[in-house]
Amino acid sequence: MKRALIVSFALFLAAFAIPLLTAGQQPAAGDTNPSPAEQTSPAPSPPPEAPTPAAEETPLSGNTEPPITDTVIPILHDGGIRQIPLRDYLYGALTAEMPPLYPEEALKAQAVAIRTLVCYASEHPYHGEAWLCSDPECCLAYAPLEDNRASWGDEYDTYAAIARAAVDSTDGEVIAYLGEPIEAVFFSASPGGKTRSAAEVWGAEVPYLQSVDSPFDDDFPGGAHGHGVGMSQFGARQLALDGMTYKEILLWYYTGVEVVEEPPPG
Ligand SMILES: [Zn+2]
Repeated sequence: MKRALIVSFALFLAAFAIPLLTAGQQPAAGDTNPSPAEQTSPAPSPPPEAPTPAAEETPLSGNTEPPITDTVIPILHDGGIRQIPLRDYLYGALTAEMPPLYPEEALKAQAVAIRTLVCYASEHPYHGEAWLCSDPECCLAYAPLEDNRASWGDEYDTYAAIARAAVDSTDGEVIAYLGEPIEAVFFSASPGGKTRSAAEVWGAEVPYLQSVDSPFDDDFPGGAHGHGVGMSQFGARQLALDGMTYKEILLWYYTGVEVVEEPPPG
């Protein structure tokens, strides 16, 4: 549905705004202000089939449908439920969960896992009205991307661009089992050569959360970190360095799943 809106907006631009620009190149008599800024100012929204000059006075207020990036999700953060734009949430959760210097394919795998958890939480909210919280011990770490300015210093723009690229290049992609977004849990590292199954750790069998080989985590500085179920972040890093794509990494850690495109939750 939202995609259709974007297409119709593009058609609108083609049908209406471009003729406007063309018209702007032919200044009328007495026109003393041919500034481009004036002529490309925010377009009103008349029907494309009626691009009359009078349409320029149509107010903007009739257009209430938010653009796709304005899809907001309720997150328990800073002591209350915050309505956070989905894309901003994904940028902020990704950088809170995985160092931006991890390989690109590992970051993309992490971005898809987080988006999948958001979709899952939209159907099975972890905190009542709030889908997720920002406590890493409970749900997922999250802080606005901007909060990294101090710690990243001169590298802020570079790291922020890396994070945005991992999210944007996988836009709409989620991990599905039997057509439904999975509870795409992950953890930092779990030495021992294998991940753990949901049945082993939480006592409930989950078909896509099985124990799989993860022979890299013994190299993780500091030993075990996390519940060991689902995707190992350090393992994803090693697999990416070995040349795996993000989809291959996800299929490695989540059993019997596929990566599909979904409309935003909400
Ligand atoms: Zn939580």
